[in-house]
Amino acid sequence: MTFDSSSAFEAKSNEQYSPSGKEPVLGGKLRAKAVWVDESQCIGCTYCGCVASNTFAMEPNLGRARAIRQDGDSTDVIQEAIETCPVDCIKWVDFEDLKGLKEKLEKQDFRPPGLPPWV
Ligand code: SF4
Repeated sequence: MTFDSSSAFEAKSNEQYSPSGKEPVLGGKLRAKAVWVDESQCIGCTYCGCVASNTFAMEPNLGRARAIRQDGDSTDVIQEAIETCPVDCIKWVDFEDLKGLKEKLEKQDFRPPGLPPWV
């Protein structure tokens, strides 16, 4: 049995589909959630950045990890990074919650991990 590859170009498109704009295409897969680091809990071990280097970077002033983009690594790689975090401070969140989480974080007063309180 042979397959006529020209059918791929003749098939009708799905006219029912209308994207909502909330379907980020990540490595060919759709992802419904964004990744978020609770920097107030991060201990700066850098594990997440070693696993998903296109997603996590260390913030230079506070020495804590931050998700710098949402489309840098596959979901599996990000999930692996989440599972390596020793303090469980990386979360999947709704894209709509990112702005509020960022504002909440900016209101907190925390310091680079490892500094004694008198410095
Ligand atoms: Fe911070 Fe967790 Fe990343 Fe370590 S793995 S740098 S604790 S977010």
